[in-house]
Amino acid sequence: MLPVIALVGRPNVGKSTLFNRLTKSRDALVADLPGLTRDRKYGEGRVGEKDYIVVDTGGITGDEKGIDYEMARQSLQAVDEADIVLFLVDGRAGLNPDDERLADYLRRKEKECFLVVNKTDGIDPDVAMGDFHGLGLGAPTPIAASHGRGVTALIEYVLQLV
Ligand code: GDP
Ligand code: MG
Repeated sequence: MLPVIALVGRPNVGKSTLFNRLTKSRDALVADLPGLTRDRKYGEGRVGEKDYIVVDTGGITGDEKGIDYEMARQSLQAVDEADIVLFLVDGRAGLNPDDERLADYLRRKEKECFLVVNKTDGIDPDVAMGDFHGLGLGAPTPIAASHGRGVTALIEYVLQLV
């Protein structure tokens, strides 16, 4: 069984962009329209000699109804299926109440969960990360999914833990 890495976080933080980079595919729908990816989506990736499965999700705010409720349910199922959860937040937007709700949920799960601050291209990563230490999920890791900065190192690091 390959290790399964789930990408979760509120809509528009860059989950599908990271998914595409990790799987080298352009298949996941990437758009400025928040929450476009409604279903879980699976891809395969490899770093060094290690293969893994990565799961893209539609996004969670912890406060959904209707179609958003179904999207959130799928995302939470992806968390349950994963060996490793990458919880993405937006380093440009800063801390959001939805991030806090999701962090509360993830803290209660018995999962390897890593806090990842995306979109740190062109900004000071230390400043971008400052907001997020208080989420109680350990030290955040800065990346820029659209440029690839920090991505390989992050995946190598998390894979050695499973
Ligand atoms: P998702 O809703 O979490 O799947 O987010 P998307 O992957 O669809 O990305 C949302 C928006 O953020 C898109 O306009 C992306 O181009 C942009 N984005 C994603 N990653 C980065 C990044 O590392 N830096 C910057 N500046 N923008 C990014
Ligand atoms: Mg998406």
